[in-house]
Amino acid sequence: MDETIDIRGENFSETDRELDKKLRPLEFDDFNGQSQIVENLKVFVKAAKLRGESLDHVLLHGPPGLGKTTLSNIIANELGVGIKITSGPVLDKPGDLAGLLTNLEDKDVLFIDEIHRLSPIVEEYLYSAMEDFRIDIMIDKGPSARSIQLELNPFTLIGATTRSGLLTSPLRARFGINSHLEYYDSDVLTGIVKRSAGILDVYISDDAANEIASRSRGTPRIVNSLLRRVRDFAQVKGSGKIDMDITKHALKALNIDEYGLDEMDNRILYCIIDKFKGGPVGITTIATAVGEDAGTIEEVYEPFLIKEGFIKRTPRGREATELAYKHLGRIKYGDSPTLF
Ligand code: ADP
Repeated sequence: MDETIDIRGENFSETDRELDKKLRPLEFDDFNGQSQIVENLKVFVKAAKLRGESLDHVLLHGPPGLGKTTLSNIIANELGVGIKITSGPVLDKPGDLAGLLTNLEDKDVLFIDEIHRLSPIVEEYLYSAMEDFRIDIMIDKGPSARSIQLELNPFTLIGATTRSGLLTSPLRARFGINSHLEYYDSDVLTGIVKRSAGILDVYISDDAANEIASRSRGTPRIVNSLLRRVRDFAQVKGSGKIDMDITKHALKALNIDEYGLDEMDNRILYCIIDKFKGGPVGITTIATAVGEDAGTIEEVYEPFLIKEGFIKRTPRGREATELAYKHLGRIKYGDSPTLF
């Protein structure tokens, strides 16, 4: 992939950030896909509103760019309450958390991204806040140090994580609603591309929308990011409309993999095929070979590779499938070279 182009959309420029804001769905009905999760959340939000209570705490987990932040904003919006946004690594002292919690209005949402990266001491603080809407804070130091108890307004904590495996069990147990976001199917992503193109006020043909969707690694963030880049090509090198020709031209210029796989996906496949004869091979061995954490491979990369049929899990480890061999232009060990 060209290093100057950030297709994953994680290092936004100012204009991309503005556009991203415009593309973010604000209501459940604008949020495509993840239908089971959305249907359940609608019920829980409605029930909480009927009872006049705060919504139970929500844990959203799944790979990056699938809509965890978007859903959290929608939940606050649909509840008709405010939302405060922070993240695990930012909250490094209990005082930071206490400051946020004491500023929450009745039934507000506190969104903590990357909640698996909270420090243990801050996490412990969170327990009583989540359970009893109360925190103990220490005032003064040395011999006059004492703790006082502060009552909080009832609130909803929404925690998001790409690595739910790293969450401690006491924290996990305090979330009443626990949802796992899955990679999106290509037809749902096609719907997202069309909706985004509509908001950006640019024409896109059905086949072009389909093509962008199928190259986006099952991820709405990538879909939107690709759409913005293809739109650039359409405006500069084409007629301004996004059709199949300009889409193919742009995707080629951007070096986008035919299946939407990214560099790490391909490294994992090369590793299984070239270093371990196609497997089976254990996840920790793959992790060491590609220089990535085993949990990240298991929770972020592998689910997509399995969903798209590039690898399969067997009791003895991970195996590359025929599709993986074909994709990398490799010949399966023991197969006749005329096969591909
Ligand atoms: P996460 O928090 O899981 O990393 P985000 O909520 O930031 O992901 O989503 C990334 C982008 O993808 C958002 O800006 C939003 O515009 C878009 N997006 C995510 N999920 C959906 C969806 N289901 N429908 C439409 N757009 C979506």
